[in-house]
Formats: sequence, C-alpha cells, structure tokens
Amino acid sequence: MQSIGQLPLSLARRTGSAALNLLLPPHCPGCHARLPEPDHLCAACFVGCHLIAPPLCTACGVPFAHAGQGGAGGMCPNCLAQPPAFRAARGAMAYQGIGKDLILRFKYASETGLANLFAPLMCRAGADLLSRATLIVAVPLHPTRLRARGYNQAVLLGRAIARRTGLPFLPDALIRTRATEKLRNTSALDRAQTMLGAISARASRLPRLAGQHILVIDDVMTSGATLSACANALREAGAKSIDGLVAARVKAPQLQPPAAGYPLNRISA
Ligand SMILES: [Zn+2]
Ligand SMILES: [Zn+2]
Repeated sequence: MQSIGQLPLSLARRTGSAALNLLLPPHCPGCHARLPEPDHLCAACFVGCHLIAPPLCTACGVPFAHAGQGGAGGMCPNCLAQPPAFRAARGAMAYQGIGKDLILRFKYASETGLANLFAPLMCRAGADLLSRATLIVAVPLHPTRLRARGYNQAVLLGRAIARRTGLPFLPDALIRTRATEKLRNTSALDRAQTMLGAISARASRLPRLAGQHILVIDDVMTSGATLSACANALREAGAKSIDGLVAARVKAPQLQPPAAGYPLNRISA
C-alpha cells in the first residue's frame, strides 16, 4: 500500500484536504460566499450562470426561444444554410454574466481550478454526446500562446471530463499549424476563413484517431469555426464522427429576434 509515514495515502489525502478546507474554506467562485463543498456555485450564482437547456438546435446547440423553432431536422437557420463540419455541439452555459466572468478568470487569470466547476456542468449538457464518444480531444493552443499562458484551458476541461466519465483523453491529438488572430468581434464568415487550415491532426496520433467517435472540448464557442476546423482535421485523420462540447457558448450572435409570420429567427449576415 502506498503510504506517507504510517498514514495510508488515501487517508493522508483526506486529512490534507480537510486541513486545506479549514485554512481556505470552500467558497462560491462567483460571489465568494462560504459553501459546504468546493467546486460549486451558490444558488444565486448558479441561476446567474444561465445554464443552457432544450429546446436547442440539434446541430450547433444554440438555444431556441420555444420548442418547434427549428427547421428541418430541428436545426437553426445558420446550420440549415451552412451545416457545420461537426455532427453536434453543446454548451453548458451562456457566455454572459457570471458565466462569462468565470470563463475569463479561468482563461486569463490562472484560476485553473474552475475546470472542476465547469466539468460537471459540461457533462450534463453533453450527456448524449458523451454517451456516443469513444475518445476526448482538446482544441489546441498555438505554442506561442501556450507559452504565454502556461496552460491550455481546453486541456484542463478535457482532463476533468475524462476523469469523470472514464473516457480516454488525448490532449495532444490536434495542433495549431499557424497562429490566428484573436477572433473577437468578427463575423461568422471571417471566423471560418481565419480558421481555415489552422488546425491539423498530429501525425504521431493518427493511429489513435482513425475510426473513433471523437468529442472535441473547448472553453467557449462563438460561431463554431474553431470546432469546425477541428472536425475537418479529425475527419481527414479518419475519425468516424466528431462532436463538440464547450463550457460556454455565445447564445446567438448572428440571430435576430423572430420576424412576424416567420417561424425561425432570421439570419442577419
Ligand atoms: Zn455565489
Ligand atoms: Zn444550429
């Protein structure tokens, strides 16, 4: 048995964790209120996170205002006009309010422990995708950005989800073949063009990708251009199917309020 002195390792871990809780009591990452358990939100922040629930676009997972809003196959107008390269994508929460604040801290302020808060929410939102996945991979960061940040937030999420589900995780399956500008405030078309050919499968990992049903993990989804670039690379590598799962998604950047007499939201661009 592994042990530290006379203490079995598991007991030492529990004791260490209890001591840590005394020093740093669990708190809500949204508002810092004390909580009985770590890696949870208080009720108010949980509500403030705007978890995404059906009805959704069956493809990109954008939430609908009401059931029956989707067109053929339950898809949103964007997916009907231009089907994504992935089979389906789901997001745990809307990229706004507390959820957005938490994501920004996770991504830019080294609050890496937030992966343990997001992972269960993502597992719930992506239960269908996880049930058919045989392998988890992460959206890659360009090495320059990885060096600057010190960690890839998508890898942290993928690892936490793999731990919870028991699915195999290949954190280095994909690589950025060139650096891309930050995709803020650009149109869906610009994003797709920027990401074209920017991601490919790592040659040494090709044997592990062929024939797999792959779930790609990322922190935020906006237009789906990054997930589509990953899906194209994985399909070229011989993957059977590719889904995407993100912690947060921009709800509907390109959808306008429904026009009178038209059952679907119109596409603005
Ligand atoms: Zn709170
Ligand atoms: Zn859609």
